[in-house]
Amino acid sequence: MRFDTVALIVAAGRGERAGGDLPKQYVPICGVPVIARAVDAFGDIPVFVVIGEGQRDLVQAALGTRTVAGIVIGGSSRQDSVLNGLKAIEGDGGATKVLIHDAARPLLPAQVRDALIRALDDHDGAVPVVPVADTVARAEGTLGDTVDRTALVRVQTPQAFRFDAIMTSHERWTGDPATDDAQMARAAGYEVVTVPGDAMLDKITHPADFARAEAALAMRYVSRTASGFDDHRLEAGKPLWLGGVEVAHTHGLSGHSDADVALHAITDAILGCIGAGDIGTHFPPSDAQWRGAASHLFLDHARSLVMARGGIIDFVDLTLICEAPKVGPYRDAMRARIAEILNVGTTRISIKATTTERLGFTGRGEGIAAQAIATVRLPEDM
Ligand code: MG
Repeated sequence: MRFDTVALIVAAGRGERAGGDLPKQYVPICGVPVIARAVDAFGDIPVFVVIGEGQRDLVQAALGTRTVAGIVIGGSSRQDSVLNGLKAIEGDGGATKVLIHDAARPLLPAQVRDALIRALDDHDGAVPVVPVADTVARAEGTLGDTVDRTALVRVQTPQAFRFDAIMTSHERWTGDPATDDAQMARAAGYEVVTVPGDAMLDKITHPADFARAEAALAMRYVSRTASGFDDHRLEAGKPLWLGGVEVAHTHGLSGHSDADVALHAITDAILGCIGAGDIGTHFPPSDAQWRGAASHLFLDHARSLVMARGGIIDFVDLTLICEAPKVGPYRDAMRARIAEILNVGTTRISIKATTTERLGFTGRGEGIAAQAIATVRLPEDM
């Protein structure tokens, strides 16, 4: 099957300059690995990823539930890695257009991506460029002549090409390893046009670049808050699960699952933050497979939906409403367990308890109620 437009992400580098043992393409920015952000930026466009030898487990872990069209092992230079990727695409039927991108530029704005694809309707190649803001000069020990910066641009990626044109360019190239693909396309006689690039596309090379990317990204997040409520009936002689912890009590909660009202209320609050319905939408009580299910499965599912949207769980505040048992002795254990399920620090979880002064069903000990408020940060355009 021939692809229409396909993306080729080169992530084969070892990334030592960014520091640490983990190659930079696998390091998270605001919770999402660099390479996963690069893949996400292409939306519905099929992506081939070129990785270094021995990085298959790393890339699978970083991509999580994302699917890519192909994972290709890179070569000894960037140029060889790109060529391996192009050959893999050709082996899968080829493509009309290809966007060749560096994983180290994970924050690709949609308008740059779309402008590149449009440019290929009339041209063989297109690259995003940004003006040079600083004064540029020659220097050898002492400062030399100033170079006219108005004639200069910084060239970013993705670099977009008609597939056949860039394949031919790679086959014809005989010089030293090229630093980018546009250089090879031009050498082969193809015209490469420019589209406006974006500062968000600047390469992540040094540790400070991660802080810059996180700061830029943080400004693009919006905060969402939503509530959840649940209650379940108390029955004698059943185990009591509350906040993911088994609590010693004469009565336990009855329901289709383990009836953990606290986890159910938190699950609904988190689902509410992403407008994803409620716990019953995802785990219908009519479905026998959830009979007696441990409720951490529900909460973990809500967490995974937030992660899939690139979100961050900021805070959860839970109030348990019951006459008995006493919550105090279990508060720390519940906090730790909920934090563990949500994969956040315990300082992001608050647990409170109240009685209803013996009034109503909770006051009479017929049941336990729980309400939760969750705050989640999400990328602006989600
Ligand atoms: Mg419930």
